[in-house]
Amino acid sequence: MESITCKFGGTSLADADGMRAAVEIVRSDERRRFVVPSAPGKRDPDDKKVTDLLLGWFHALQNDLDTSQPIETITKRFTDLAGALGAAVDIEGEIRAIEAAAKDSAKPDFLASRGEYLNGLILAEVLGAAFVDPLKHIRFDFEGNLDESTYPVLAKALEGEGLFVIPGYYGADPDGRVCTFSRGGSDVTGSVVARATGSVLYENWTDVSGIRMTDPRIVPDARRIDEITYGELRELAYMGASVVHDEAIFPLRSAGIPMSIRNTRAPDEPGTMIVAERTPTQPVCGIAGRKGFTMINIEKTLMNREVGFARRALSVLEEHRVSFEHMPSGIDTISLIVKNEELKQHGEAIVLGIDRVCQPDRVWLTPRIALIATVGEGMNHHVGVAARLCGALAKAGVNVRVLDQGSSEMNIIVGVDESDMDSAVGAIYSAFNEEN
Ligand code: ASP
Repeated sequence: MESITCKFGGTSLADADGMRAAVEIVRSDERRRFVVPSAPGKRDPDDKKVTDLLLGWFHALQNDLDTSQPIETITKRFTDLAGALGAAVDIEGEIRAIEAAAKDSAKPDFLASRGEYLNGLILAEVLGAAFVDPLKHIRFDFEGNLDESTYPVLAKALEGEGLFVIPGYYGADPDGRVCTFSRGGSDVTGSVVARATGSVLYENWTDVSGIRMTDPRIVPDARRIDEITYGELRELAYMGASVVHDEAIFPLRSAGIPMSIRNTRAPDEPGTMIVAERTPTQPVCGIAGRKGFTMINIEKTLMNREVGFARRALSVLEEHRVSFEHMPSGIDTISLIVKNEELKQHGEAIVLGIDRVCQPDRVWLTPRIALIATVGEGMNHHVGVAARLCGALAKAGVNVRVLDQGSSEMNIIVGVDESDMDSAVGAIYSAFNEEN
């Protein structure tokens, strides 16, 4: 029989009602056999995520501070949850075992992972499912990257009939010690489980009904995207659209498994389907903007005739171990666009270095740049997309500082002043939202 892997996020499993909703979703389709829970998230905006409480425990332990506060809060949270759901899990015993093991751990990973572990025990109990501990079946190398040998090992552990609960976020390093993915990593566990089990679908259950065409904080009624490819999602995510962990894409993409983003609180809503390929009906599927870039501008008459000019400029960035995002160029100008977090305090030194090795007419920094990605596989061979985009920006009175289109023809990047970002995103959305 076909199977589906379902991952439930922390906000979906934050309390007993959320857990009950998840259980109902799993039971409503017998193909939903592999269930990956996150640790309980915030129940309200002032609440704390269990993972953050666990990291607080680790911090207290490292600094010889009193650990009783985080331990008490975590114990109560899970005791209440298990109690409300009637799950026979010995939370106090589990916490005592965690306390004993935590004393020897030098890294935060063990404690950080215990939210998923405990939530997994409770969910398995309520569902009557087999509990599969990723510590034995999900493997990392010493650099913290997933080891490919995970797939056959996990596939074997998940053979047979019935339901399985596999806690998200962690596995083991080659020494058998707990190792986690980066934050939000239960999404990646879900992908790994979906691929290991050959699931026909990976459902990622969260607290929103899918991905919107742009950030609803900028365009409150931004339309939901029905279908998007992994390639398109990656371009949008890179530019700041946070939907799923970016490493979650790779295991699925190579196996051709679609992922759907669904809302635990509105399970009848269709959500967004992320697929390997689609036939686009519109040129643009999403728009994402991100602040925090600086442009390093270099100007030199007849630069184009100088062999090795760009290489010399880039060697200065390399010396400072700074990577760049884009390099738009003109005949006598090149700009290097760098994330501020990469540039750090190296800006002035890089300017001086470029001045020395390239001897340009002028080199200077333009800070506070926002980049906006307008993404869609439908823009490939579609005439007039850039014109429509620039027309919309001109009408909104936004000055375009740079314009860059990659050869994949599925992404046009514009650079604008940070203060213009929201109006630019709004203008591009209105120009390409074809339901208008
Ligand atoms: N609980 C972990 C976190 O808060 C992992 C996850 O939820 O995916 O980052």
